[in-house]
Amino acid sequence: MKTLIKNCNLVDGTGSPGRNADILIEGDRIVAVGNLTSDDAVIIDAAGLVVSPGFIDAHTHYDFILGNKEDISCLIPLLYQGITTVICGCCGISPAPAIPPGYREQKHFFGETFSQRKWPPEEECRTLDSFLNMVEENNPIVNAAFYVGFSTVRSSVMGFKSGKASDEEREQMRALIRQSMEEGALGVSFGLEYVSSAFADTEEMIYICSDLKDYGGRISAHIRSLGIGMADATREVITIAETLGVPLQISHYAPFCDEALPEFFEGVGEIDMAMERGVDIGIDLVALLFSMTTPNEFFPYWLFDGGVDKAAERLKDETIRKEVVEYLTTAISSGFETWNTLLPVYNQIVVIGGTANRFAHQLRLFNFKQPENLSFEGKTLAEIANERGQGDEPYEVFLDLTLEEDFNLYMCVSLSYEGVEENTFDDNDALLKTALPVFQLPFLSCGSDVIGGDRNSNPGLYAHFPRFIGTIGRDWEGFPLEEAVHKCTGLPAKQFGIKERGLIKEGYYADLVIFDKDTIKERANTANCTEKPEGIHMVFLNGQKVVEDNEYLGEKRYGKVLRKFE
Ligand SMILES: [Zn+2]
Repeated sequence: MKTLIKNCNLVDGTGSPGRNADILIEGDRIVAVGNLTSDDAVIIDAAGLVVSPGFIDAHTHYDFILGNKEDISCLIPLLYQGITTVICGCCGISPAPAIPPGYREQKHFFGETFSQRKWPPEEECRTLDSFLNMVEENNPIVNAAFYVGFSTVRSSVMGFKSGKASDEEREQMRALIRQSMEEGALGVSFGLEYVSSAFADTEEMIYICSDLKDYGGRISAHIRSLGIGMADATREVITIAETLGVPLQISHYAPFCDEALPEFFEGVGEIDMAMERGVDIGIDLVALLFSMTTPNEFFPYWLFDGGVDKAAERLKDETIRKEVVEYLTTAISSGFETWNTLLPVYNQIVVIGGTANRFAHQLRLFNFKQPENLSFEGKTLAEIANERGQGDEPYEVFLDLTLEEDFNLYMCVSLSYEGVEENTFDDNDALLKTALPVFQLPFLSCGSDVIGGDRNSNPGLYAHFPRFIGTIGRDWEGFPLEEAVHKCTGLPAKQFGIKERGLIKEGYYADLVIFDKDTIKERANTANCTEKPEGIHMVFLNGQKVVEDNEYLGEKRYGKVLRKFE
């Protein structure tokens, strides 16, 4: 079947000016672009509308859902917002290659944070190949490309063990990465604020990735700190990429507390200098500037040495519990120190800055299972602490909730800044506008970092790309339309080595979005997470029309697993 899209404003993903053109689709490919006619094609009149490549979400954790045999329809909203390809396996965490005890420890540590309902089955997660075969059989709803997570690899070989890997363990990790590259991984992702990536030092990471370049692999990094210590953390991953000679993507790169702003700009300077030396670097950022993850990342890493059950045991010990509260007070709250002075003490650095009060207002907690806690769903830690009559002890409440829920909560975390106590998550546009220079960086692409599926917890599932193009690009005059589209298409395709996608070009796959540049905008917000966006008329995935006027048309699912070598 052929489809001819007529008279559109073609914004091709390269960043060059839009032009009037027609696009002919046959099968799953774009076969011609120009002034076209056809006798046997279905004609779509796109006069007055933009046609762009399908959006590539530079940062996701959807592999845990794509590998869930039961139900992946919760990912349909990705298509409503024009996303046709997702990058998976970010932040050091991937379902595969995971072998016990790593699989079980990771499952316990991350709980339902990424998986929504349940983890992909253990048997199929042993190798990347078996996992990808399962995703393929399951017919993905969008195209997906996959990193393997370093935490997954390390915990598979070592469990949750701190300290240096032995020579044998290093070789085993290196072999798992080689095998995954042969099976189609993009490369390796690091999640250095999480166990068990966090247990590794720079030298270990370089060693176990030393074959990456031979496979044309790349690395992606959630760096050790997005708060205080950010500049050093940036230098660390640049060193890794530069030593290995591979491209680097730094994930969700923004300071998570205003105290870290100077270090953020220092980090951007380091990136600039490294790029001048020839290091290939990209960054991505969440257009809503808050993220979701497991609150377990706030604990000192030594707590998890030996596993999550071990951490629970430790937290029940009064002396250790005091130590942890003290750690939270020192590391997160008042009295900042630098990475270098904190690291030897805690074997980690801080995520956010500010006071205990700010911390408590910054987190919204989800996934309560205990009957007496169900009413806390979606509330801030501050609200929960107040309801429990412990308003001045947020850390104590945080520890209690973690134990009561067996480390299985997840959170939405906003930026920590002056005034966060008074602002809701939706009132932070003024703050977000100050981040415009970040969004404008030429090497920044757009990555949602939404986790999970149909939960009422993060509007990003419905809002992300329309917000990036409509609100940030157009309404706040962040960048011209062509550049906004480039950051959502051609740029991430290049940053992740996605072949024959990301541009509108003869011979490329027909992943396309038809939208109105004047009305495209998100409607979802934290109060109402599941509103479909405005202004998106049609979405094509591998040549198939999958969305029209905000309705999903798919009887079949047309996404593809993108193995690196294909
Ligand atoms: Zn991350």
